[in-house]
Amino acid sequence: MSTVKHQIVIIGGGTGGIMTAAQLKRAKSDLDIAIIDPTKTHAYQPAWTLVGAGLMKMSQTIKNESSLIPSGVSWIKNKVKDIKPENNTVVLENDDSISYDYLVVAPGIQINLDGVKGLKEAFGKNGVCSNYVNPEYTDEVLSSFKGGTALFTQPTTPIKCPGAPQKIMYLAADMMASKGLKDKSNVVFATNGSMIFGVQPFKDELEKFLLKYDIKQRYGYQLVEIDGIKKEAHYVRGVLPEGSKYVANDDSNKIAERTESIDGNEHYIIKYDMLHLAPPQSAPTWFQSTKLANPDGPNKGWMAVDAQSLQSRFFPNVFGVGDVTDLPTARTGAAIRKQAPVVVKNILNLLSGKSADHKDYKGYSSCPLVVSHNKMLLAEFGYDGVRMSDPILSKMFDTGKASYPMWILKRYGLPFMYWNMMMKGYNF
Ligand SMILES: Cc1cc2nc3c(=O)[nH]c(=O)nc-3n(C[C@H](O)[C@H](O)[C@H](O)COP(=O)(O)OP(=O)(O)OC[C@H]3O[C@@H](n4cnc5c(N)ncnc54)[C@H](O)[C@@H]3O)c2cc1C
Repeated sequence: MSTVKHQIVIIGGGTGGIMTAAQLKRAKSDLDIAIIDPTKTHAYQPAWTLVGAGLMKMSQTIKNESSLIPSGVSWIKNKVKDIKPENNTVVLENDDSISYDYLVVAPGIQINLDGVKGLKEAFGKNGVCSNYVNPEYTDEVLSSFKGGTALFTQPTTPIKCPGAPQKIMYLAADMMASKGLKDKSNVVFATNGSMIFGVQPFKDELEKFLLKYDIKQRYGYQLVEIDGIKKEAHYVRGVLPEGSKYVANDDSNKIAERTESIDGNEHYIIKYDMLHLAPPQSAPTWFQSTKLANPDGPNKGWMAVDAQSLQSRFFPNVFGVGDVTDLPTARTGAAIRKQAPVVVKNILNLLSGKSADHKDYKGYSSCPLVVSHNKMLLAEFGYDGVRMSDPILSKMFDTGKASYPMWILKRYGLPFMYWNMMMKGYNF
């Protein structure tokens, strides 16, 4: 058991951790920074949507973590098991302690395959796949799909990139159409949400593709069980806002859905031939019991941060970035692009004796919604679903309309920017 001290400690060397470390080093090269992360590899997860659709190889999305740790930053290849913010200390799995003056928390989100009854048993075989876990298996499932019901669904918990469960659906529907399987298939989208997308004009644009692909929709559908043997997904219906419908584009109930009363609840059971889902997600279990997590309320377990400054609401020398935080916006790498500079500015302020009063994060997040193998629209928004647009991109393109140039941005532009600019600490 030993104790080592660093001026700035960053938990997690994923999107948020590397971006923050690289920007800090660019701003002030003599900072003593350590990143704690046991991982050997770093994935560009946004491309997993394309891997799942056979449009990119998994190997094209992965680099060695060692190649991304910014020069001059120490890398502690271990796992954090606890944080003692009252002592400015992080505890590792081998019981070593690392103490800090400033802490940045960026361990990402946890996938919980045991969050839905039957999911763990059903997962990864017989057509039950997820781009969140193994996009290569999604590709296998889609490539061998010969028709039937293709169900795309998501859990009631918050998830990273909430648009991802529908992106793979549009790509799958496009693939089915090009293979002549459209008439033999029913593509179904079932979500706990009340609409396809919460921000205009993206909602209207996506609805055109739902119609084009004839996608049957289920809203207010809360996934409660997967029966991998019978190939059935069970839902209960939540309460929908007035004016919303549980069923859209399926007036004659073409899909094989039945109801059954189970343990006093009405289950809506959809029989599938293949099922893609985003599994339930949460803040990492070990993090939830630290003093940095919300102890109760709707954000219980997620890191409590100021929504504009990203400073911990409980400990002023601690900041959060990325998926682990309770920020009321979509958890994406694009959001982190706007969060990291705010964290950096505030730490630099504190280091020079000022306060962390840089409150510039307005909830920006974005979702590149691929709707076919050659079209994408870029949904950009901030807190309260207000549309925000990149000033340069929106001068050149109508980003709210699905187009080929936007697809090129998704396939080539964004990965290039990620590896060569965001991971290198350029703030743009
Ligand atoms: C299928 C899919 C599609 C997506 N599409 C998009 C998209 O189109 N656009 C977009 O912007 N975003 C997208 N995202 C989301 C984006 O990838 C994440 O929001 C982003 O990577 C989150 O960054 P993070 O730093 O919070 O977590 P991560 O990048 O996941 O990094 C977390 C790091 O913490 C480490 N860690 C975890 N626990 C510990 C511990 N106990 N101790 C030390 N280290 C630990 C992990 O090893 C990991 O390296 C997508 C994600 C998926 C899965």
